[in-house]
Amino acid sequence: MRHNFGAGPCILPQEVFKQASRAVLDFKDGLSILEISHRTPEFEGVVEEATKLVKELLNVPSGYSVLFLQGGASLQFAMVPMNLLPEGKTAAYLETGVWANKAIKEVKFFGNANIVASSKESNYTFIPKDYTIPEDSAYFHCTSNNTIYGTEMFTLPVTKVPVVCDMSSDIMSRVIDVSKYDLIYAGAQKNIGPAGLTIVIVKDEILGKTGRGIPSMLDYKVHIEGGSMYNTPPVFSIYVAMLNLNWLKSKGGVAEIEQENKAKAEALYKEIDRNPFFKGTCAVEDRSRMNVCFVMENPELEKSFAKFADDNGFEGLKGHRSVGGFRASMYNALPITSVHALIDLMQTFEEKQK
Ligand code: PMP
Repeated sequence: MRHNFGAGPCILPQEVFKQASRAVLDFKDGLSILEISHRTPEFEGVVEEATKLVKELLNVPSGYSVLFLQGGASLQFAMVPMNLLPEGKTAAYLETGVWANKAIKEVKFFGNANIVASSKESNYTFIPKDYTIPEDSAYFHCTSNNTIYGTEMFTLPVTKVPVVCDMSSDIMSRVIDVSKYDLIYAGAQKNIGPAGLTIVIVKDEILGKTGRGIPSMLDYKVHIEGGSMYNTPPVFSIYVAMLNLNWLKSKGGVAEIEQENKAKAEALYKEIDRNPFFKGTCAVEDRSRMNVCFVMENPELEKSFAKFADDNGFEGLKGHRSVGGFRASMYNALPITSVHALIDLMQTFEEKQK
């Protein structure tokens, strides 16, 4: 068995894989989930249940719609300004890494992006705190968890401006107050399910105000009216997401998994801070619970630790090329036993150097 610390697509629960593979062979009367129409009552029931689970697990208030879309979080970088930013107007963006930058890049097709704060100077090792969001901004956009750098936003700025958040890599990992957001989006391939699906949670009243014509497939309102079935949805990804969200519910939901995620992160950061061979790369107060980034005090030992980890069954620990070193991604399905195994590995490595 390998310990899967990959950043995404990533570990999902084994029982979800088993249930999903059974449905590939026989979902309904001997027919595979891959060969039935998305218009069958059975599949409509899947979308209904998946929607209900998202609402229940995140305690989504009334007045919000939950959508299952395609195109990844990356399409949302453009869909957000297309649907929310009137021509020539300005939206406020917090620049906390590559993904925030890719979001900023798309704004120019619709209006202007005002970067209200940035941690670029330090290669995004912290979350900027003291900044003001101009009140005439069409919205404020932030990235709650910066997958590449291992920083996470645990508080939101106080603002009257609508808040839009890319939650791709920490959605469903901790309790959030959805009423503080106007639009949340997330590529599914971390804590929700397989790649190919994007979740959007949007406050209905913010839509339809740009005065711009929007192509149907890119219009949130069209997808709301179509119940995420305006066109053929990513049937299998939605099905597996439903299974995975049911798994999360059976574990006690988001509040319960948050405690586990806290315990996993605390244990690993404690070892990084204790072990003289390793050091963390981010500001301590902004350390992500999902992606733990660390380097070696002596960079010459990196290759040797990477090989040691690989030989001992660890997968996906290599840091992103823009940061280097190591990144342990610890999404919901990663058991704490894998984290303890990584800590043991780091301690054994330390002993071996003596
Ligand atoms: N935002 C964040 C925070 C991410 O981690 C990623 C991908 N890992 C993306 C956006 C891009 O997502 P996608 O590949 O689904 O377009």
